Amino acid sequence: SLVSGNSIRRRFLEFYASRGHKVLPSASLVPEDPTVLLTIAGMLQFKPIFLGKEPRQVACATTAQRCIRTNDVENVGQTSRHHTFFEMLGNFSFGDYFKREAIIWAWELTTKEFELPPERLWVSVFKDDDEAFSIWHNEVGVPVERIKRMGEDDNFWTSGVTGPCGPCSEIYYDFLPERGYSDDLGDDSRFIEFYNLVFMQYNKKEDGSLEPLKQKNIDTGLGLERMARILQKVPNNYETDLIYPIIEKAEELALVSYAEADDRVKTYLKVIGDHMRAVVFLISDGVVPSNIGRGYVVRRLIRRVVRTGRLLGINGDGKGNPEGAFLPELADKVIELSTEIDPDIKTRAPRILEELKREELRFVQTLERGEKLLEQLLTSALLSASENGSKPCLSGKDAFLLYDTFGFPVEITTEVAEERGVCIDMNAFDIEMENQRRQSQAAHSVVKLAVENASELTESIPDTEFLGYDTLSAKATVKG
Ligand code: ATP
Ligand code: MG
Ligand code: MG
Ligand code: MG
Repeated sequence: SLVSGNSIRRRFLEFYASRGHKVLPSASLVPEDPTVLLTIAGMLQFKPIFLGKEPRQVACATTAQRCIRTNDVENVGQTSRHHTFFEMLGNFSFGDYFKREAIIWAWELTTKEFELPPERLWVSVFKDDDEAFSIWHNEVGVPVERIKRMGEDDNFWTSGVTGPCGPCSEIYYDFLPERGYSDDLGDDSRFIEFYNLVFMQYNKKEDGSLEPLKQKNIDTGLGLERMARILQKVPNNYETDLIYPIIEKAEELALVSYAEADDRVKTYLKVIGDHMRAVVFLISDGVVPSNIGRGYVVRRLIRRVVRTGRLLGINGDGKGNPEGAFLPELADKVIELSTEIDPDIKTRAPRILEELKREELRFVQTLERGEKLLEQLLTSALLSASENGSKPCLSGKDAFLLYDTFGFPVEITTEVAEERGVCIDMNAFDIEMENQRRQSQAAHSVVKLAVENASELTESIPDTEFLGYDTLSAKATVKG
C-alpha cells in the first residue's frame, strides 16, 4: 500500500509532537529576515531565536516548511533528488536538547516510525566531531564502516554567509546495498541524503570567524519528497504522489507518455512538475512576476515552464484554444494536491491562476518575436560557418540583443542554439552584461541576485536592478 506524502508529513510532526515539540505552521516563502531573498530551510523563521535576539516561546518545535532553492534549478530533472520547491520537515531545539537526543530520535523516526532497514542507512559526521561519531557507533550501533567523517562542504551547515551555523550529521539511504563498501555517499544512483541534523552552536561573523552562541541548539531538515521516494519505492522524487499527478496533467496537455518517453522528454516533464509547484507557492505567498528580486525568480521559473511546454508540443491552453494559457491548467492540479502543504492555498487560487495566465500570455508574445529573430541569427551563423569552414557560433552581441531588447533569457537562447548545433560566445555575452551592469550602477543601487547569498543583498531590494539571468544560477552558498 502507498505511503502517501501527506501521511509522511503528518507522522513526522506527530512523532516530534509526542516528544514535547510544539507543531508550528510553515513560514512564508518570503522571509521576514531581510538578508535572505527566499526561505531556503526550516530554520529561517527561528533565526532570531538561535541568535538570541528574540526570546524563545517554546523549548522545542517541529514544522513542515515550504522551501525554495534556486541554486538547485540546474539540478532539476538531472539528479533524482533536487527540486526548486520542496518541503523540509524539521525538529528544533532552542537551547533544550542537543546532539544525543537529536541523533537518537532521528534514528528512531527513521527505523521505527518509517521502518527503514538499519543496514541500509549510512551516516556522516563533521570530520572532528568525535562526540557525534561515538553516539552513532556506541549508542545507536551503526558500524564504523558506515559512518563517514566529512569536511566543511558537506558537514558544516551555514544558513548564509553569516548567521547561525554548526557541524552537522546526516543520514543517507542505500538503494544498492549489494554493492558493499563505498567511499562515495554523493553517488546519486546509489545513495540519497535525506536527513540533516545541525548542531547549531556558532554565529558566523562577517569576517568569517565563529562566535559561540549563548545556547546550543538543534536544527534539522528531512526532505519530504526524498522520504516519499524511498517509502514509495519509485526511482526518483518526481514519481512520488507529491509530484507525479502534475506530470500526468502535463502528459494529458502535451499528448505524451512519461512511461514511454525518452530521457529528454522525461526531463521536460520533471521540470514542469517541479517548477509548477514553485511558481504556485511563490505567487501564493505574494510574489508577483517582475524583473527584480523574488519577482524575477518567479518570472524565470514561469518562463521555463512555458518554454518547456512548447518543446513538448503544448499549444495554447493544450485543450484546443491556441490563444489560451496552459499554466492555469497545471496550477489547478498543484492546488488540488496542496491543501495540507498550505491550508490558505484554496482561497488564494483565483489570484494565482490569474497571475499565471497574464504572465504566460505576455511571455508567449515575447517568445514569438524573439524566436523569429533568433531563427534569422542562427541561419546566418550556420551559413557563414559553412562558408568559412568554421564552427557555427552566435556572437555575444547578438545573444545580448535578444536578452536586452526582446527580454529573451540567455538560457533559452543557449538551449535553442544547442539544438541547432550552434554555440554562443558566452565570454562576449558576459562582457556585454558587465558593461550594462556598470552603466546601471551609476544610476541605481545594485545588488547581486545570488539568491542564497545573504550578505550580497542590501535592504533596498525594490530599488535594485536585475543584473541578468546568470547571477541567478550562481552556485549554492548553502553547504552540506
Ligand atoms: P544535497 O546534498 O542533496 O544537495 P543538501 O545537503 O544541500 O542536499 P541540506 O541543506 O542539508 O541539503 O537540507 C536538508 C535536507 O533537505 C536534505 O537532506 C534533503 O532531504 C532536503 N533537500 C535539500 N535540498 C533539496 C532540494 N533541492 N530538493 C529536495 N530536497 C532537498
Ligand atoms: Mg544541496
Ligand atoms: Mg545536507
Ligand atoms: Mg548534502
